[in-house]
Amino acid sequence: MRASPILTALASVLLAAAPPASAGDAAEAVAPASVRAVRLAGPLGRRHRANVDYLLHLCHTEGEAMVNAFRERGVRKQDRGWDGEYAGKWLDAAALTAANLRDAELTDRAHFMANALIEAQADDGYMGIEGPAKRGKAAWDVWNHWYAITGWLTHYETFGDAASLAAAKRAGRWLIKHYGPIDADHRRFFRGAWGGGCNVDVAGQLVRLYRHTGDDAFRAFAASAIAQYPPIQTMRETRRPPLTHAYVLSAYLGGVVELALSGGGHGDELPWVEAVWQRMRDEHLYPTGSLGLGERLREPPPAEEPDAKMQETCATVEWLLLSYRLYRATGHARYMHEIERTVYNALLAAQSADGMSWMYYTPLRYEKRWFSGPTRCCYWSGPRGIARLPMLVYATDADGVRVDLLETSTATLAVDGREVEIRQASDYPAAGRTTITLTPPEPMRLALKVRIPRHATQPTLTVNGKPADGPVKPGAYVNPVREWQAGDRVTIAFDMPARVVPMGENVCLARGPQFLAADARDNPDLDLAAVAVPESITLRTAEPAGDRPRYAVTLLARGEPRRVLLTPYADAGNDGARFTAVFGRGP
Ligand SMILES: [Zn+2]
Repeated sequence: MRASPILTALASVLLAAAPPASAGDAAEAVAPASVRAVRLAGPLGRRHRANVDYLLHLCHTEGEAMVNAFRERGVRKQDRGWDGEYAGKWLDAAALTAANLRDAELTDRAHFMANALIEAQADDGYMGIEGPAKRGKAAWDVWNHWYAITGWLTHYETFGDAASLAAAKRAGRWLIKHYGPIDADHRRFFRGAWGGGCNVDVAGQLVRLYRHTGDDAFRAFAASAIAQYPPIQTMRETRRPPLTHAYVLSAYLGGVVELALSGGGHGDELPWVEAVWQRMRDEHLYPTGSLGLGERLREPPPAEEPDAKMQETCATVEWLLLSYRLYRATGHARYMHEIERTVYNALLAAQSADGMSWMYYTPLRYEKRWFSGPTRCCYWSGPRGIARLPMLVYATDADGVRVDLLETSTATLAVDGREVEIRQASDYPAAGRTTITLTPPEPMRLALKVRIPRHATQPTLTVNGKPADGPVKPGAYVNPVREWQAGDRVTIAFDMPARVVPMGENVCLARGPQFLAADARDNPDLDLAAVAVPESITLRTAEPAGDRPRYAVTLLARGEPRRVLLTPYADAGNDGARFTAVFGRGP
C-alpha cells in the first residue's frame, strides 16, 4: 500500500479558531512545545531514540494483526475485546516520534498505518472490531474507537493529514449516533468495561475532535458523558478517587481536564479534579511515580507490599498524561515535579535500556520479567509515554518560555510571534547543573522560567556568570525577567544529597530525580533481602558500568556495615540481574 503524501502545513491546526471565553472557563496556562521544535541530546534522548527501533519492530511483526482486527471484523475470532486499541496507540506513538526525529522509515510506516485504518473503517464510521450483531453492545467497542481516534488525531496534528481528521470525525459521529443522547434516562453508554469507565475514557478525544473541527456536537457529547457518569458525580462531592482501575480512572479524569479547557463554561470542573489528583498522589502513588496494585487503586494503599503486581505501564503513562493536562491547565510546578519523578523512574524502568522490551508490571525489587503477553496493552502504552519526552522539556506561557526538564537539548519556541532559540547543556541527572543559552532574533524582553527540582538543595542561579538577584527556591520556578540578547546564558546549579524515602515499613533511596537500587551485577555476593539503611548515609560517585551510573554507600547487611554500589532504579535489573529498590530500616 502506498503511503499518503506528507501534507506539510500545520496551518489547519494553527488556524483553528479559539472558542470564545465565557463564565466558568479555564484558560490553558501553559502551551507545550511543538513536537517538531525540540531535539533531545541527553539521557532522555537516548531512551527516546531507542523507541524508533521498537516501533518499527512492532510494525513489522504486529502491523498486519493490528489492522486485521478491523479488516476481519465479524469474520475472525478476536483474541481480546480490546484488540482494536493497538493500531491507534501505535500510530499515536509513531507519528510523534517520526515527526520529532524526522525518521523517514517511521514516517512512511505511520502514513501506511493511518491509511490502512481508514480503509478498514466501516462505511457508517464504525471503528470497533465487532461483527454487525454485536456493534455497540460489546464491552470494548467505545474503547477501540477511543484509540483509533487518538491515533488519527495525532497523525493529523503531526503531519496535517486531512484524511485522518475526516476518519476520526466519522468515528466520533458513529459514537454520538449510536449512544446519544446521554441523560438521566439514557445511560446505555455506561455499560462498557470497568463500570463504564472505559467508555467515558473517550471524552478527551471527543473534545480534541471539537477543537479541530469546531463541531460542538463532539464537545456536547463528552460533556454529557462526564455530567452523567455516576463515579464522576460522586467525586465532585467527595474529592476522593474511587478504588477502580488506575489507567481507566486517569484517562477519564484527563478527559474532564480537556473539557474544562475547551471554552464551554466547564472550568469549574478543574478544582475537584486537582483535589482527586492530589489524593492519588498522596495516598496511592509509589515512590517511583506510578499507581495501582493488580492494575487497581486499593485501600489501604499497597505501600507495604513491595512484591506485588504493581505499576502497570498503562497506568504509568496515563498518570503522566493526566499530570501533564493539569500542568497545561494550571501551570503549577507540582505537576511537573510528579512528571519528572514518573519519567525518571517508573517509565524508564518499564522500558529496557535498548528500548526493545517493556514491562507490564514493574516491580520494586528482585526480578524484571519482560512482557510477552497475552494481555498486551502495555507493549503499546509504554512507547506513547516515551514519544512525549521532547514535549515535556519546554513550554511557553503568557510571559515567555519555561524550562521544565533539565535535559541537554535544543528547541525553537514561538514567543510573541517571534522564534526564540534555546539550548541546554546539562549534567542532569548525574549532577545538579545546567546551562541554558537563549537566542532571540533581536533583543527581547521575556520571562525565562526554570523549574528548580523539588529535591535540589543550595540552588544558585547566575546570568552570564554573575549571581542573580532574588531567592532561588527548590520546587519553584526561578524567573529572571530581563531583556535578553542573543547568547545570554543562565546557569542553574544545586546539590542532590541522598534522600531516604519511607515506603511502609521499609525505605527507598533517592538522589535527585532518580530512585536507586542495589543490583546483583554490582554487588555479586550481597543478600538483597537483608540490606538495611542506617540513620545517616553519604553517597559517593563510583566508576560507572558502561552508561550506567553507580554510587557507593555504606549500608547494613545483616546488621554489619557494608559498602554497597547503587545504580538508578530505571537501569537496574535490565540484564536479568536481581535487584532491590526497597531496603529495611536500620536500627
Ligand atoms: Zn497495560
